[in-house]
Amino acid sequence: MIPKAIFTHMLRTVGQTALDMVYPPCCVLCKVRIFDERSAVCDGCGSGLLSIDAPYCERCAQPLGTPVASCPACRGRTFYFEGAFSAFEFNRPLQDLIHLLKYRNRPGIGRFLGSLLAKRVEQEPGIPHITGVLPVPLHPLRRRERGYNQSACIARGISDVTGIPVLENVLGRGRNTPTQTSLSPEARMANVSGVFEVARADAVCGATVALVDDIFTTGATIDSCARALLQAGAGRVFALTVARA
Ligand SMILES: [Zn+2]
Ligand SMILES: [Zn+2]
Repeated sequence: MIPKAIFTHMLRTVGQTALDMVYPPCCVLCKVRIFDERSAVCDGCGSGLLSIDAPYCERCAQPLGTPVASCPACRGRTFYFEGAFSAFEFNRPLQDLIHLLKYRNRPGIGRFLGSLLAKRVEQEPGIPHITGVLPVPLHPLRRRERGYNQSACIARGISDVTGIPVLENVLGRGRNTPTQTSLSPEARMANVSGVFEVARADAVCGATVALVDDIFTTGATIDSCARALLQAGAGRVFALTVARA
């Protein structure tokens, strides 16, 4: 008699093998066959991802060529979040991956990118012990169109690697906002000010948490979330993003 757990595992393995024969796992960018089912890209495409290494600005994650006293990207600005970390520069392979994640129904890419981000975060001495990750919420209408929130997929990838729980449905989004792409940093702040609300303050009270998003551009959206979390009683808030635009 085979124990149920082993039998279930055998069935799953057989099922996965059959599935791999019909749809062998391929690099989402160049379609070459890959053999690590946890990866979304082949080694060649993966090597095109450029990690952001020190020196970078610990406030806004901007890569800096040389250590400077005051970062040109965030000089004169104040943020509610305490620090920011981005894993990669927003170059071509990453732009393509994020496009597939957001507009081509590929949530698995978010989980993959989240796992890469987590491996970098684990090696960063400047980031303290985090007890929960919170995806930046999408407006419910846009979430329905897309079928998922890409930031929640990234947060799940972080959780896969670190075991840090994803605090879903803690942060909510009220009104829909026009797209931020063509707005100045000041206009972006006004555009997202007061948009986010904390539905469950008990989940973040006194905690050190990280907000998760795909791209850090001006930080306006993440900052608006951070403000709502601190007002709800969160202890410390950090910003983790896959890319720094
Ligand atoms: Zn490839
Ligand atoms: Zn900066």
